[in-house]
Amino acid sequence: MLEDNSENLVFEIFPWNRNFETGIDLIDQQHKTLVEILNRLARHFACNPPELGCNRVLDELLDYAAFHFEEEEQIWRHALSDSRQTQDHHDTHQLFFAQIREFQGRQAPREEVLTALFKYLTRWLAFHILDSDRKMALTVQAVEGGDTLEQAKVWADKQLNSSASILVAGLLDIYGKLSALAIQLMREQNARLRVEEELTRVQQQHIRQALEEQASDYQQQLEFLAYYDPLTGLMNRNGIIREIKTTLQRDCSVEGEGALISLDLDNFYEVNARFGEEAADRYLGLLGRRWLDALYPGGALARVSGDEFVVLLKDGEQVHAQLEALRLTAGQACDLGGQAVTSSFTAGVVLFLHDSANDADTLLRQADQTLFHAKQEARGSWLFLEAGEQRQYRFRQKRLEELQQALHNDQFRLYYQPKVDLCSGELIGLEALIRWQHPEQGLLQPGDFLPSIEHHLIIVDIGEWVIEAALQEMRRWDGQGLRLNVSVNIAALQLLHPAFVRRLQAILARFPDIAPQRLDIEILETATLGDLDKATEVILQCEALGVSFSLDDFGTGYSSLSYLKQLPVQTLKIDQGFVLDSLQDNGNISILRAIIGLSRAFNRNLVAEGVETVRHGEVLIGLGCTVAQGYAIAKPMPAAALIEWKRTWKPHPRWLAASLQA
Ligand code: C2E
Ligand code: MG
Ligand code: MG
Repeated sequence: MLEDNSENLVFEIFPWNRNFETGIDLIDQQHKTLVEILNRLARHFACNPPELGCNRVLDELLDYAAFHFEEEEQIWRHALSDSRQTQDHHDTHQLFFAQIREFQGRQAPREEVLTALFKYLTRWLAFHILDSDRKMALTVQAVEGGDTLEQAKVWADKQLNSSASILVAGLLDIYGKLSALAIQLMREQNARLRVEEELTRVQQQHIRQALEEQASDYQQQLEFLAYYDPLTGLMNRNGIIREIKTTLQRDCSVEGEGALISLDLDNFYEVNARFGEEAADRYLGLLGRRWLDALYPGGALARVSGDEFVVLLKDGEQVHAQLEALRLTAGQACDLGGQAVTSSFTAGVVLFLHDSANDADTLLRQADQTLFHAKQEARGSWLFLEAGEQRQYRFRQKRLEELQQALHNDQFRLYYQPKVDLCSGELIGLEALIRWQHPEQGLLQPGDFLPSIEHHLIIVDIGEWVIEAALQEMRRWDGQGLRLNVSVNIAALQLLHPAFVRRLQAILARFPDIAPQRLDIEILETATLGDLDKATEVILQCEALGVSFSLDDFGTGYSSLSYLKQLPVQTLKIDQGFVLDSLQDNGNISILRAIIGLSRAFNRNLVAEGVETVRHGEVLIGLGCTVAQGYAIAKPMPAAALIEWKRTWKPHPRWLAASLQA
């Protein structure tokens, strides 16, 4: 046996055997070629599918024979000249050619020809090589040793005595059986290999299948954990959001309203405290299952956190009936460690149109907020989100997204309004006022978009943009030889943001050419600054950087005096309302007078806003306030318009006159 390169075990039916050897190396080497062809044929029979082309083997044999016989006969002729033996041997060779050619011409199925060939070659090996060739070789040996041809023949015959032919026949028989066995073995081996291959394939397929099944199990488990609450088996927050989304998409043509209910158990903390966490969890599971049974067809139930549940109803008309059903169910006692437990709940309800542009997160947030209000106003019962409120909420959400886009797409602009000394005409500074260049609605005023976001963190980003844009503009004006001070407005949320001072410092550091003293920050007096100590600290830290502060719209808040007393601001800006009304109402004049008095008492600078007319200016000058801002001086303008305004601006002659009188 030997291993072939396909790594399959292969039998050599005729392993090269010393008995085959003639003692003449050249001849033996060539005989080996024949043995190799024979083995190849044997392998062919063992193989399925068969590997050998019949004509190819026959051609090969003819080639082999033509070459080998020629060489061999030359050796015989050389030693034994044209003796009888040589001639006989030559004739046997010719018979071989004839036989092979006969095979070539045979009109029989390939396998039949190959089988006959195999048999013939085996016999050829036995009779010709083992017997005739060896005898010739021995004769040659004897002749070369000095014997006459006749003596040599006798000697050779003696060497391969008469029993040799019997031996050869016996050997042939054994080889015949052996080869049949070997071929059978090879067939079996091949069959076994095929079975093994098939087994491996099936096994791998099974393994793959098993792996796929396992993976899909994991997938299901993961999916379960992602969308379901393991405690109750109900959906979790993600699950119900997915459900709402599907409902909104699927039922978009359904008429009427759907409903989303957010509900919270009123007494769950008691259950927790009385029975322990484990029992309380069990109670949630029990209640969840009962509620699931009490659900209206097409409805969905989720547990979104601790003792908070969400119900989605396709038909908003069913809300009351559904809530009653849930209330009744929760009121039925559950047995917990031998004790009866019941609960009540509070709920917030949002009705939504299937065809509206609702989104699931917003609806759920609205339901949560309504629940929050319900807990304060209607504990143990439920509240509906008002349609108007819902619209406003949606508008705010949309605006917020738009503003984020606006920031990203650079749609904000700064307009500048001068603050001047009415008497000397000196330009004290500019107030930067934000505008939104809306792609569809045109230029929007701050009142159109700031109020909806003053409590949202985006106001901080916008505020930072304003500070940076103002500093950039100052740098540009500096380049044009115009050294201007600018004030910016910031929201309370930004001032109190923990990173405010650090970020302001970072922005200032990017403008080393602009002295921080030229920047003023306006904070609204009405702003809920909450903890005044905190605001004071921030202002002091900013002032340490060089930045100054103004208290905007002064006089409108309830705590003007305490703000004024505590906050270390340099400037008070009198709210435009007092100025505007000063012409009609003496009361307002008194307030103006009081504010001006206060500013002096507390040693603060003063700017009056809302100087819409020349008369307003005259009144203010008369009261001792000469620094002002208003339409009568200039409306807020784009930065580019400022140089031209400054070139032409002059205080009104009546203001000069008024100042002389004051
Ligand atoms: P404010 O800081 O008190 O700004 C003065 C407002 O009064 C400006 O309105 C200005 O255009 C307007 N105004 C100026 N002179 C007159 C006048 O003679 N008559 C009348 N009727 N109005 C006058 P604007 O630009 O619409 O800003 C409104 C408010 O929005 C500002 O009041 C300020 O509180 C806020 N704001 C403006 N820009 C920003 C900003 O960048 N950030 C923040 N957080 N708030 C800003
Ligand atoms: Mg202001
Ligand atoms: Mg103001």
